[in-house]
Amino acid sequence: MRGRVRVSAPSGRRVAIVGAGWAGLAAAVDAIETGWQVTLLEAARAPGGRARSVLLPAANGVQTVLDNGQHILIGAYAQSLALMQRVGIDPAKVLRRTPLDLRDAQGRGLALPRLPSPWNGVAGILTARGWTWPDRLALLRRLAAWRRAGFTCGAQVTVAQLCEDLPPAVVHGLIEPLCTAALNTPLRSASAAVFLRVLQDSLQGGAGSSDLLLPRVPLGQLLAQPALAWLQAHGARVRLGARAMQLRRTGLSSSTAAAEGAAPWRIDGEAFDAVILATPVWEAQRLLEDLAQATPETAATPNWQAWLQAAQGMAHEAITTVYVQVPPPPRDQLARPLLPRPMLQLDGVASPAATLGAAAVAGAQFVFDRQQLSQDAGLLAFVASASVIERAILEQTVLQQARRVLQAHGHGAMPRIITSIVEKRATFACTAGLVRPGQRPSALWPGLLVCGDYVEGPYPATLEGAVISGRQAAAALTAVNRP
Ligand SMILES: Cc1cc2nc3c(=O)[nH]c(=O)nc-3n(C[C@H](O)[C@H](O)[C@H](O)COP(=O)(O)OP(=O)(O)OC[C@H]3O[C@@H](n4cnc5c(N)ncnc54)[C@H](O)[C@@H]3O)c2cc1C
Repeated sequence: MRGRVRVSAPSGRRVAIVGAGWAGLAAAVDAIETGWQVTLLEAARAPGGRARSVLLPAANGVQTVLDNGQHILIGAYAQSLALMQRVGIDPAKVLRRTPLDLRDAQGRGLALPRLPSPWNGVAGILTARGWTWPDRLALLRRLAAWRRAGFTCGAQVTVAQLCEDLPPAVVHGLIEPLCTAALNTPLRSASAAVFLRVLQDSLQGGAGSSDLLLPRVPLGQLLAQPALAWLQAHGARVRLGARAMQLRRTGLSSSTAAAEGAAPWRIDGEAFDAVILATPVWEAQRLLEDLAQATPETAATPNWQAWLQAAQGMAHEAITTVYVQVPPPPRDQLARPLLPRPMLQLDGVASPAATLGAAAVAGAQFVFDRQQLSQDAGLLAFVASASVIERAILEQTVLQQARRVLQAHGHGAMPRIITSIVEKRATFACTAGLVRPGQRPSALWPGLLVCGDYVEGPYPATLEGAVISGRQAAAALTAVNRP
């Protein structure tokens, strides 16, 4: 058996899991483990959802595999790392682990030394380049205050409000990049409560929880493909390129249906005992609104109205990843890394407009040296989070950033853009006061659940949030409708 999971004997009860992103995959693995017969439906030809590999059209007979967007994990992603292990992946082999390092090309900013927490944080702050002593002391005092308050604050507070009296150097060099990377939402609207929760998990989550984990392999190999292989090896029916179009409920109540052995749910006519919608929120909303129209009982339950209202209230933020190719150096020059470290913060972040809450920071906020990470020769990935500027303008700005950052490291080569991948709805906007849809769209039917990074919970839209939500949906299914 691949992977370390104890799997119960199949019970004959069928669950449809719609969507093979990280949430759906996590739900499917847990459902198999507890004895459900799993059918996994995925609209795309490949699994992974918003964390997937993308094949570029072959140029000169060479096929290039890229990620739909550069992803970062952190040591606190305990459930994601455990899921990888359960499907037979060794996280230490597929992820490059380093202490948190948010420095720019000149070495300015925060980098934590390899020390136990909280000493790594204290030492990192005291030695951060580009900050004055008052800056460092102000941050230490503020962290201590947040710690005393249990890393909590009012739901309506924004990150900009939370940090308004911190020194600008700390806001530009630390708060802004952290908030952008973790919440993908501008400071002026980002939820301080969620931001503090991310900080708490990173700082107090135990050894290595603040470490950066950067993928060494294409995103599809990090979890999605191995998980799919594991599911198939354990009897799941996996259908790729199969978009679920219609969800229907037969006329029976759950208990009657169970007593009579009838499966109460239909997806495009196929019968299931339970359904987990692991799609993005807009697709769950489409399927559920259609169901509610066909089944007026659904629309009559109070939590359906609340669910729908929350789903309708969600806005989304884009992320653009611009891939830049650097020509190989002349043969007589020794090949050396393109950048001093695999991940660098870029100057664009340090714009006063960002702190004041203006939507766009010009250009990308981070660059990743894929040559150091995954042996993609000469490839750099520039990431523009919460990006609102036009693609062509962004690409021009990124080219300037690329030349600057390469020159700073002694590379005179002229970089060129190979492609930009724009994910218009990369994450939900994690704004202050946001009410998120719950796991159960209708109180009537315990066998109908939703999961995904957007579902009610303490985390922003992240891989870890998706995995946790998927596992919670599978657990709820088992508790309510035990096979
Ligand atoms: C560019 C980018 C960068 C990111 N960077 C990070 C990062 O650094 N760190 C981090 O933690 N997170 C990051 N994220 C967020 C992370 O990718 C998401 O939070 C996570 O992948 C969401 O997983 P999910 O399973 O909830 O949803 P999804 O991944 O969206 O999965 C839903 C799946 O459902 C399928 N589907 C939809 N409708 C149907 C249907 N009707 N029938 C069948 N299938 C259907 C979709 O095709 C999709 O595969 C990033 C996201 C993007 C886009």
